Amino acid sequence: MAYEPLDESNSVGILPIGGLGRIGMNMMLLWVGEDYFLIDCGVLFADEQAPGADLVLPDLGYLNTISSKVRAIILTHGHEDHIGAIPHVLKVCPAPVYGTRFTLGLVQEKLLEHGMAGLVDTNPIDPESRVEIGAARFEFIRVTHSIPDCVSVLIDTPVGKILHTGDWKIDLEPVDDEHFDEERFRKAGDLGVLLLLSDSTNAMVPGWSSSERQAGRGLEEQIRSIEGRVFVAMFSSNIHRLRLLGDIAARLGRRICFAGRSLHSYARVAREVGIPGVPHPEVDLSHLELVPDHELLVCMTGSQAEPGSALFRAAVGTHPHIRFRRGDTVILSARFIPGNERVIHEMINNISRWGVNVITPKGLSIHASGHAHRDELRHMMDLVRPRFFVPIHGEYSFLLRQAELARQAGIENVTVIENGKMLHIEPHRLRLGQTIPLEPYYLDGTITGNADYLAIRDRGKAAYNGVVAVHLQVHRSLRHVSGQVQINTVGVCTDDGRHLSACKRFVEQELALLPPFAPSREICDACEMLVRRYFRRAVGKKPVVLVTYDEKQSAE
Ligand SMILES: [Zn+2]
Repeated sequence: MAYEPLDESNSVGILPIGGLGRIGMNMMLLWVGEDYFLIDCGVLFADEQAPGADLVLPDLGYLNTISSKVRAIILTHGHEDHIGAIPHVLKVCPAPVYGTRFTLGLVQEKLLEHGMAGLVDTNPIDPESRVEIGAARFEFIRVTHSIPDCVSVLIDTPVGKILHTGDWKIDLEPVDDEHFDEERFRKAGDLGVLLLLSDSTNAMVPGWSSSERQAGRGLEEQIRSIEGRVFVAMFSSNIHRLRLLGDIAARLGRRICFAGRSLHSYARVAREVGIPGVPHPEVDLSHLELVPDHELLVCMTGSQAEPGSALFRAAVGTHPHIRFRRGDTVILSARFIPGNERVIHEMINNISRWGVNVITPKGLSIHASGHAHRDELRHMMDLVRPRFFVPIHGEYSFLLRQAELARQAGIENVTVIENGKMLHIEPHRLRLGQTIPLEPYYLDGTITGNADYLAIRDRGKAAYNGVVAVHLQVHRSLRHVSGQVQINTVGVCTDDGRHLSACKRFVEQELALLPPFAPSREICDACEMLVRRYFRRAVGKKPVVLVTYDEKQSAE
């Protein structure tokens, strides 16, 4: 696909590449004249729209066309939907990466996995850093969120200051005592912010988000009343919650154990970069049965019923070390991400069949969101008092909702854009630019590519309708079908083989009527049509039909 260049080389503007209009895979292109910057570099887990693919990535084809101008990749925090695409993007856009220590620690893990360790220019930043790159100057402001070491990015450009919040909430009692830096936001507002780009994830939710410590108190209250073993499923990146669970275990005389590889790796990276209070597991999973029930607290992965996660495997009885039994309690300390509800409920059913008590977050304060609710969103607008506002990070309806809030706050120009829409930022106005036809890329096994390259569209057809494979023998000189037609199917009802023989007879009879000396390809096309017609009439389905042929001198 050909892309048009950004239309004014001396302008300042943004182009959302992911995260605006659909939640996840956050990436924003900011251009300041000839200098391009990517803010965040996230992935999305692939769903049924791309059967078999593992991850959805930003449009690597588009990034390839601008890569020579990309001066830096700036990361706001270490969640997968903000850093997950880093190794794939760096392969087409080998730019220096800037992030806080914990974020870069997580990036290093990914680079190591991809054999890229030591090959990437990584630059640690903190809230004291000032970084000048080309025509832009970057500052970072501490925010609170559901992972440590998060920042907003304040960018000084020739037209004015742009503030990109990243993901944030205002946690008034942060677990790591790293407070949301209200003063810096207010000061930025005093000095004048031209454009505020703010997280819309919870724009539909009224009020103020509850604090992480509040979730800790809720968890402690629950765990205190439990006599048997306790299993807490959580997001492994939530180091704050892990720390709280470590403290709770210590207070209640329980020993902590980790189930799930990612819990170990996030905790290890957190310890390596000096985040305080990260618990060490005190019980090895293989020694679980040696610990008295009331002394055990197992933190585990799998709150979203991810296949392969510790909780999912324990629920179906395939975990090598965890055997649920009556008297156990499983606490789901995470929200059910929309789209995952069905599989989570199925997992809860499976856990319950072991006689285990399951506690979900509904109506209980055992989980706290990492994203600002409406009152906090409004508070941010009042602190920063920007001239222009663009909501970011959210489904389209969430963006509209926050835009409405911004208008109520009296912000002069509020513009809603989605992925692929360029927005020129001028001193006195925002101006819509071109629409870039961005397309998702996928990680599929070990290959990355777009839907065409990976033949992803064919998978849905094959999955829903099945596949019929036909093999013909074509007589080399007479150019007609000789010998028997062979038919095999995958995922098609054959009525115990009866449709196979009936279809074979039908195809053989019809092909025999073709005039001799037909080109082999024409014979195959006719065969494909006949097979499709047969199955449409016989079973009401349109399977994918694959026809292959051999050319033979005579029938065998
Ligand atoms: Zn986040």
